[in-house]
Amino acid sequence: MVERVGARSGREHQAEIEDAPHRARSRRSHPPGKRREVQPDTQDKKTIALVYDFDGTLSPKPMQEYAFLPKLGIEPKDFWAECARISKAERADALITYMHLMYKKAKEKNVRIDRADLVAQGKRVELYPGVETWFDAMHAYVKKRSADAGITVKHYLVSSGLTEIIEGTKIYPHFANVFASEYWFDAYDLPFPKRVISDTGKTQFLFRINKGIEDLGQSINAHMPEDQRPIPFSNFVYFGDGDTDVPSMALLKKNGGHAIAVHGADESEKKCIELFKAGRCDFYASADYRKGSDLWKRTCLLLDRIIADVRVKEEARGLG
Ligand SMILES: [Mg+2]
Repeated sequence: MVERVGARSGREHQAEIEDAPHRARSRRSHPPGKRREVQPDTQDKKTIALVYDFDGTLSPKPMQEYAFLPKLGIEPKDFWAECARISKAERADALITYMHLMYKKAKEKNVRIDRADLVAQGKRVELYPGVETWFDAMHAYVKKRSADAGITVKHYLVSSGLTEIIEGTKIYPHFANVFASEYWFDAYDLPFPKRVISDTGKTQFLFRINKGIEDLGQSINAHMPEDQRPIPFSNFVYFGDGDTDVPSMALLKKNGGHAIAVHGADESEKKCIELFKAGRCDFYASADYRKGSDLWKRTCLLLDRIIADVRVKEEARGLG
């Protein structure tokens, strides 16, 4: 959501890395909807950004299918087919159409679902194996591999899904910031889209992380020279599962960043192979986040490369 501005001082961040479980608790205690103080990030370029899509990447199904649609007794495939039909017939944006249709359906069935209900629905969202322990494990891996170089990891979520549902998931406290679609709940009779994150719109948030301008109240468009950007694109790894991730993967790959495509264990690798052959991603793997999996090993390979790159640049800077 807008207010989860994650830019914090280097010392605070380091303290959090030292004590990840405490970090999770303290982050959760941050009241939703309250704006964080924005502080400039350190300019040492020692932060690695791991950026995730949600639906199909961290979770097997679209998040609306775990509770919202079952609550209304609607078959997911019928709902998505209706979205596609309306969006095509009306030439309407597909994401605005789904956000509108969700509440239109609820109203038709006389079911009132407010913000708190959506957050509660987040608890029902399933995650791929190993996701829950992945975030702290990546912190630990980078800390171990970068020795005393002080390199740290931040996890970000950029999703066309709903902020409110994501907020209810177990993994929400692990993200430095969550950029996802969101509703106004009090301005209209039907909740109205407040922010819609399209496939191409996702790239805006990669630039925000890159430039350290995570407060959505601040414009992202002013020019910032590359050397002033706190997290260079070369320090990014993006995780996605399909065509909706192509703009983000393409942006990163063209700017020296990295991407991994994932697929469900029982799903076809076809899309991933397509992305790989088109040069959209460095690797692809089954969405198994447990230690020792292909995804784990390939992510660690990229992290090793980024850590080495950061250290090489630091050594060169030392030579003046
Ligand atoms: Mg996806």
